[in-house]
Amino acid sequence: MQEFEIVIVGAGPAGLSAGMYVARQNVSCLVISKDLGGQMNLIPKLENYPGTIMSSGQILAKTLETQYLSFKGEIVYDTVEKIDESEDGFKIKTTRSEYKAKAIVLAPGKVPNMLGVENESEYFNKGIHYCTKCDAPFYQGRITASVGVGSYLVESGLLLSRMASKMYLILKGSKLAGDKDLVTTLENNKNIEIITQSSVKSISGNSTLQQITLVDSSGSEKVLDVDALFIELGSKINLDYVKHLVKINTKGEIEIESGGMTSHPAIFAAGDATTIPYKQIIVACGDGSNAGLSAFNYLEKLKGKPGIRADWKKQIGGQVFHY
Ligand SMILES: Cc1cc2nc3c(=O)[nH]c(=O)nc-3n(C[C@H](O)[C@H](O)[C@H](O)COP(=O)(O)OP(=O)(O)OC[C@H]3O[C@@H](n4cnc5c(N)ncnc54)[C@H](O)[C@@H]3O)c2cc1C
Repeated sequence: MQEFEIVIVGAGPAGLSAGMYVARQNVSCLVISKDLGGQMNLIPKLENYPGTIMSSGQILAKTLETQYLSFKGEIVYDTVEKIDESEDGFKIKTTRSEYKAKAIVLAPGKVPNMLGVENESEYFNKGIHYCTKCDAPFYQGRITASVGVGSYLVESGLLLSRMASKMYLILKGSKLAGDKDLVTTLENNKNIEIITQSSVKSISGNSTLQQITLVDSSGSEKVLDVDALFIELGSKINLDYVKHLVKINTKGEIEIESGGMTSHPAIFAAGDATTIPYKQIIVACGDGSNAGLSAFNYLEKLKGKPGIRADWKKQIGGQVFHY
């Protein structure tokens, strides 16, 4: 069984950033991930990652992987199925192998729930979107619709109402749920039409989305011309393989404190699978570096060393400088 000091679950921005900070300290580190990039693969036009003007999520993912590997970190594309405590750390079972580690960083992210209509994938990023806060700015002055549940739908409406010329809010229930004041703001906005007791039956268009067909509780259908449909049905976070070791909140997120500390002293976590607010790439990267450094410090303390206070050091002549 291969042994590493630190094993990281997930090669999204959180996991790769954690890996970079760990590997750069000459710690043996393995990232295990189902794929490279995670949700970044869903972003063809990335506008808000500081330091790069107009990139894509996939380019950023490849850059982060290259950067991580340049520090001699290792990566394997596989699925983590179980993490258990062992005598001197953890045993990690994947679909194809088993590994040992002294500390773990969890960065498994999440996957947005789909609506389940025909052609949904075909129109993805061509009118169909799953992250309003990420993609609303692409629809300045256009007609959009949002379908979803609870506060996700309310937030989607509020964000789009600042951009779109007209928007439809579609819900299965008879009333918008969520913060009363926010709901009132939406109800009073003349650009927003709230369509209750309805669901999206089908979508259509040419190279981009053009129409959605709604069906109400009586079975009547209605066609709307739209430039975009935002699907806000929450996301799936799968933590079955580790839920016996860390505290998870009612939303299914790993509870963390500063430095990515979980309820287990040797397990750290970062990114969208945690309780952090504003789930975005830059946030996942920052929190990934925090969790990576905390895992490194945990190992140093096991060895009786003080750990690091700065994130890198340089030797000039005979003197070591910490920055
Ligand atoms: C449609 C969409 C558009 C977005 N647009 C933007 C944007 O424009 N700007 C922005 O900043 N943010 C955007 N985001 C949000 C951003 O993508 C996420 O906040 C970010 O990717 C979270 O990073 P993460 O590393 O926590 O998780 P993820 O990116 O979800 O990566 C998690 C990784 O862990 C792997 N994994 C999960 N479970 C296991 C397991 N058991 N074993 C092995 N591997 C596992 C996954 O396969 C994946 O590779 C968007 C999100 C979506 C859905």
